[in-house]
Amino acid sequence: MSFEYQRIDDPGEGLRLHLNENTAGCSPLVLAALREVTPEQVAFYPDYRQVYHACAAHLAVEPGELLLTNGLDEGILAVAMAAAEDRSVRRPEGIIVQPTFDMYAACLDAVGARVVAIPPHEDFRFPLDAVLSAITPATRAVFVTNPNNPTGQVVDPGDVAEVARRLPDDALLFVDEAYIEFGGESFLDRFREHPNVVIGRTFAKAYGLAALRVGAVVAQAPAVARLKRLLPPYSLNVFSAVGLRAALADRQFVEWYLSEVAESRRLLYAACERMKLYYWPSAANFVLVRVGSQAGRLVDELTARRIFIRDRSDDPGCDGCVRVTAGVVAHTRACIEAMEEVLCGGA
Ligand SMILES: *Cc1c(COP(=O)(O)O)cnc(C)c1O
Repeated sequence: MSFEYQRIDDPGEGLRLHLNENTAGCSPLVLAALREVTPEQVAFYPDYRQVYHACAAHLAVEPGELLLTNGLDEGILAVAMAAAEDRSVRRPEGIIVQPTFDMYAACLDAVGARVVAIPPHEDFRFPLDAVLSAITPATRAVFVTNPNNPTGQVVDPGDVAEVARRLPDDALLFVDEAYIEFGGESFLDRFREHPNVVIGRTFAKAYGLAALRVGAVVAQAPAVARLKRLLPPYSLNVFSAVGLRAALADRQFVEWYLSEVAESRRLLYAACERMKLYYWPSAANFVLVRVGSQAGRLVDELTARRIFIRDRSDDPGCDGCVRVTAGVVAHTRACIEAMEEVLCGGA
């Protein structure tokens, strides 16, 4: 079985509602800050003190409880590496809960760990009992996504805590909160009770910094130190560091985007109800919709109109499903109009 990340080709000009990016772009303060970067800043190895302080303050943690990474993807890789480091078991195991973000399995597989995949419940509720049953002495990492991608479903922090308590010593529980700004309950105020929990955050989604590549992991200081050893010392470039500080300073931009997301989700739900399509109410900036046998045709016809959404039919439990980014309201409206045209012959 192959666990490669399904990287999709850039579709070119059009409305990108297929990768959950912020289609409004980033805060103008970010671009202004990038323009101010000096030749010396580019020439010298970056100093991260200011950005660590800003980000730690933003997350209400200590700088020593934080590790900034080259996108959250790098944080995921570090967790997989930590899982594979332990040579006391013949083959370390990493548990993932399907359907989910591809990178967990891709990274586990890349470092030689065995991927243990938990199949979904029909309603995509977090399968706590199945996860607990899958834990063995060889379990070295568990990956939980809250809210989950591509389903938009939340995980109860009580369930996260239960998994954390049941893991063998030295195993890590990675809680991916890439979409937590949009909904769900963060584990940030509970990680100090669990030395094995690592929380992942990204500034790629709500903050619109996907191309700057900046993510963060939060854990108790010893776990942070363990992960930090596994990564290059300068994995954040100066633009990521400067851009993140500027992005964190512009609360208004994020608040605006969050309100657009909330409205876009409502519009998508209403459209699905009109079109009699099943959908899963989402806590993230996307909605998973069951289109059925027309899913492929819908994606193709939208692509022909230069509107890109993601066919998730191949994901476990997602037969006939598409995932649509719910971000900027005007963009959502354009997508809904095209969907209605394709599926209902105009509305
Ligand atoms: C997008 C995404 C990430 C990756 O974030 P980057 O910071 O762009 O690497 C991680 N986890 C989930 C669940 C995502 O959807």
